[in-house]
Amino acid sequence: MAPTLADFGHASMRMMGRNALGKRPLLVLLLEYDDNAQGDFPRLAAVHPPAYYDQLAFGHPNPPFVTDNPANPAGLAGYVEECSIGRFSFTRVAIDGPFSMGPFGNPDDSTHIQRVAQKIIDYSPWAFIGIDGDVFDLLVSSDELVVLVIENIRKRFPANRPNDPVYATTEYFIGQPLSQVTVSLEVRIAFAGPFTPFFQIAHEVSHSLGTIDMYNPGSMNYLLTLMGAYPFYANDQATVHLDAWHKLQLGWCEPQQVELKAHGSADVAEISAQRPDGAVILWHPSRGASEYFILERRRANGPRRYDRSFPGDGLLIWHIDPARPPMNRGAPNLDPGSSGVWQTGAHTPPLSWSDGTVAVSRLTFGAGPDASIRVTW
Ligand SMILES: [Zn+2]
Repeated sequence: MAPTLADFGHASMRMMGRNALGKRPLLVLLLEYDDNAQGDFPRLAAVHPPAYYDQLAFGHPNPPFVTDNPANPAGLAGYVEECSIGRFSFTRVAIDGPFSMGPFGNPDDSTHIQRVAQKIIDYSPWAFIGIDGDVFDLLVSSDELVVLVIENIRKRFPANRPNDPVYATTEYFIGQPLSQVTVSLEVRIAFAGPFTPFFQIAHEVSHSLGTIDMYNPGSMNYLLTLMGAYPFYANDQATVHLDAWHKLQLGWCEPQQVELKAHGSADVAEISAQRPDGAVILWHPSRGASEYFILERRRANGPRRYDRSFPGDGLLIWHIDPARPPMNRGAPNLDPGSSGVWQTGAHTPPLSWSDGTVAVSRLTFGAGPDASIRVTW
């Protein structure tokens, strides 16, 4: 029996059981530590004006995206809306700060995370009552709120970390009179610094939706997916979409499912609101849903605003193998994790399963209708 889309993981990527569908609140706080003699903690406003982070968080700008003169950074809200073909968006809780944090000191990672988390909940505990989506359990959890913290640490490496619960007491009107209530916060915090590029900020924020890293062998899926590799301090606006596997897992697309029989073909279209079935799952009864390929049409110069850094115009072959994160079997040799894009007119060598047996002796790529790519084998 043919596997279902659910068997391939459709909409299975969740935080605490909740899909990244509909809307989710996003809170952005800017934090500043005292500078030292080495200039390791530059003022945020000396690197980017406050409006920069407002647009970066909640904006829907038009390209070209530029860092300076004048700044027109890419926007996280616009990014997730486009990647999800309109199925998911961020709503504004607030963007606020910079708040003075005093000296940075020499904290270990977990001490630092807890200090930041306490700052977040102390910032406005009343706001968390409104965010809490459950029936007044007064616990704000990772399925209810996405948090991005920008710190003025010159070498702040981008990261996403869960915090242990932190608490704050506030007044809340439950009938009469005002009651003292304790709210708590237990989320994932995306961390970035003044020179963190949009790519890495979006990467870390997406981890709060459940995404996984795709640092693979070869060239690490460079610029093929938001979950691939990218420089930490580039301070630029390179943008690429999430890959088709992540979109499938998030419930942001519904690929066609095509069995790998002799002499088959499939047309692969860019995933869009008009073509949520644009990608193609190639599967075989001997593997079922445990190991398969996803063919994904991508191009830098199509209608997407946020795929402009994609390296070319063609097709990716994602190999989904339970032993490791998905990787592109790239042109020209099907090397795992290669960033090579398959173009029309090309064909592959024999494509193997992870155990070395041949899945298909050759895939050939030609032009299909409406800018799609026709794959034959
Ligand atoms: Zn990551």
